[in-house]
Amino acid sequence: MDRRQVLAGLSGLALGQMPFASFAQTELRIGQRQVTSISDGHLVLPGAMFFDHLPRAELNRILSDHGVSFEELRPPCNLTLMQEPDRVVLFDAGSGAGFMPSAGSMLASLETQGLAPEDITHVIITHAHPDHLWGILDDFDDLVFPNAEVMIGEQEWAYWTDPATVDTIGEARASFAVGAARRLDAIRDQVSLFNGGDEILPGVMAHGTPGHTPGHMSFEIRDGSDVVMVGGDAIGNHHVAFARPEWPSGTDQDQDLGAKTRVRLLDQLATERLPLMGFHLPGGGLGRVERLGDAYRFVEWGA
Ligand SMILES: [Zn+2]
Repeated sequence: MDRRQVLAGLSGLALGQMPFASFAQTELRIGQRQVTSISDGHLVLPGAMFFDHLPRAELNRILSDHGVSFEELRPPCNLTLMQEPDRVVLFDAGSGAGFMPSAGSMLASLETQGLAPEDITHVIITHAHPDHLWGILDDFDDLVFPNAEVMIGEQEWAYWTDPATVDTIGEARASFAVGAARRLDAIRDQVSLFNGGDEILPGVMAHGTPGHTPGHMSFEIRDGSDVVMVGGDAIGNHHVAFARPEWPSGTDQDQDLGAKTRVRLLDQLATERLPLMGFHLPGGGLGRVERLGDAYRFVEWGA
């Protein structure tokens, strides 16, 4: 048995044993491209991480409208897979094995699409938080996608590879900084950098959406009038972020800038009727943004 078979065996085991491994996919065609949402499981997080200091009565009303508990959130993790004749592109790399027991099912999900890690030609990173980046290395600290070019925003790269970041990011996120720096160093030879406004692959435009992290990026995949926005964590949930986009989110590193970005992006998505693929949104993450008075709501694809 080589290591690949061992890993395949383990993921087969995981499939049988882990109730979180859900493979309900959502698909969209953009011209010749097939865009599919694939699951990396979900996170389990205390609500206080998101909601500290928000007005409690209105917050409770929003959460109960959506059947969400204040105490504990279980946001899904949706990677975006884009397949075209000469490329297989993954947006974000998932959590890998070490971050959280309920997450890290990306390789098993890829397998259900008939894909092996070697088939991935490009990995495009929205931002370098653990649930988006750590899956780039395996348990042995080897590259999971040996044939892939990894693309990440220049500012995001600069922030997480800066040795000062671990000391300036704050105690709660110091492990994020250490984990990101180690992984980015390991993939250094595979990386190419880009900026907001760049067409990074044919039909894939990068849009700077900072605040959640300093160099957070979203990606517009377009062919004529077929379009979808891969939003990463710029719009981080389907409840408070839509009902009160201007409220600060505890998960954004720069909460003021995160709120400004969210307000601007929601307005654009609603006005231009752009479908959104959100990393932590329900229904595989794919849906439409509808105006609701001076707020918004997320409408799952097909609903
Ligand atoms: Zn995330």
